Amino acid sequence: MSYDNSAAKPDNLPEKILHYINGEYVESIDGDEFDVIDPVTNKPYIKAASGKPEDIDRAVASAKDAFDNGPWAKALPRERSRVLHKIADIVESRAETLAAWESFDSGLPITQAKGQAHRAAENFRFFADLIVAQTDDAFKVPGRQINYVNRKPIGVAGLITPWNTPFMLESWKLAPAIATGNSVVLKPAEFTPLSATLWGGIFEEAGLPKGVFNLVNGFGEEGFAGDPLVKHPDVALISFTGESRTGQIIFGNAAPYLKGLSMELGGKSPAVVFSDADLEAAIDATIFGVFSLNGERCTAGSRILVQRSIYDEFVERYAAQAANVKVGLPADPTTEVGALVHPEHYEKVMSYVEIGKTEGRLVAGGGRPEGFEEGNFVQPTVFADVAPEARIFQEEIFGPVVAITPFDTEEEALELANNTAYGLAAYIWTADLKRAHNFAQNVDSGMVWLNSNNVRDLRTPFGGVKASGLGHEGGYRSIDFYTDQQAVHINLGEVHNPVFGKQGK
Ligand code: NAD
Repeated sequence: MSYDNSAAKPDNLPEKILHYINGEYVESIDGDEFDVIDPVTNKPYIKAASGKPEDIDRAVASAKDAFDNGPWAKALPRERSRVLHKIADIVESRAETLAAWESFDSGLPITQAKGQAHRAAENFRFFADLIVAQTDDAFKVPGRQINYVNRKPIGVAGLITPWNTPFMLESWKLAPAIATGNSVVLKPAEFTPLSATLWGGIFEEAGLPKGVFNLVNGFGEEGFAGDPLVKHPDVALISFTGESRTGQIIFGNAAPYLKGLSMELGGKSPAVVFSDADLEAAIDATIFGVFSLNGERCTAGSRILVQRSIYDEFVERYAAQAANVKVGLPADPTTEVGALVHPEHYEKVMSYVEIGKTEGRLVAGGGRPEGFEEGNFVQPTVFADVAPEARIFQEEIFGPVVAITPFDTEEEALELANNTAYGLAAYIWTADLKRAHNFAQNVDSGMVWLNSNNVRDLRTPFGGVKASGLGHEGGYRSIDFYTDQQAVHINLGEVHNPVFGKQGK
């Protein structure tokens, strides 16, 4: 069956997806472009300008000029804060457009795409407030010195983002980078460039000076847009979110320039359910944790470890609930899992489903949902009895596929939880708070949720350990990443040189 997805196609789309450089939407210098497809039909629906090194040069030059000669880096925090609040208001006023575009372009269910504008707006509000409340350290050495921290924006920040919840993840980097006075060049993911085209208009309307925000679309590899942004000598730091393998390449490419790097990478996060857990809450949350956002979520709890005494009951109830998750067209408000972003990604996820059939016991899903013979639709898929050496236990699938594994003791649960290359998130379900806290202290993950869904306050650090990332952003850690902290030392006493005696004598 082929679908008529034309009704879902937003009627206010631009003619073409362009770069945004120095306050203007522009084509690539060489005129190159690429097709963007919609994941329900996998047919091209719009063209996007394909950025090359010369487009990156132009965008970086615009950002550098704005930083060196424009008003933004020197503006008072209160002035910048006002613009950021306006940005937040405008983002929120475009929530309907954003949700429709995001859902059409990425295949996210429309109801889940709707939350993204609000969260993106909150990111701007949060940093707008944080920069006016920001204080810095001063140190007194009685009778001899006062030292203080002079916090400064760094310059041009390169922001490289993935295709999952693209607009919201872009806001996560844009808000602190701009709030602290930097200029930026954003390189959004090539699978989902549509919603990023909104930024130029939003920033212009909010009064952000020209050149502070620049956007270059296109691919990441050498000869395209991502690679030259990382290697550009005038780009002082790179904030990257994406796959761990890409993070390694970027790390290597940034090394000769000794750039500041922040890396939010992949995950294979455990959800650990002890026998004393509130089973209903744990099942609801772990269903949501891996099937929301189509399972295309870095913090997905994609390995569920269940204590053996409740294992059979858990698996049976979990499989039944997974089978009830509604797969459907992204624009349908009753849809819970939409279409995966791209046929290449769909093939990858389906290959793991096939691998899983040889590695575990399939208890739900395992193929295409009935009635969805085209497009990137996958049934919510559950494998039980998965051994820790299985690929579906070890490797990030980034789709609606989950591996369930039994354990006997707390020690075994911890060993299993830590038994992957990743360390992004962990979810623990138990009524025993002492055990929960001990487990949290010892699990290899940047973030832990105890008896909770993935709900994050914007003040908290966000990031992973091991192959899941480098550094933390979130709250004032983002302010630290996007600023230099220069130490200024003031002598209050005599000028004294401890080796050569008093100077001037
Ligand atoms: P990806 O690594 O393929 O691409 C991410 C971005 O990097 C894209 O914009 C791409 O064009 C660019 N890129 C690719 N090669 C590059 C290169 N050599 N130099 C510079 N840029 C390059 O990732 P993806 O498939 O778009 O996103 C999914 C991945 O992102 C998953 O692994 C997921 O776990 C991860 N992710 C992590 C977090 C987190 O916060 N830890 C959040 C969301 C997604």
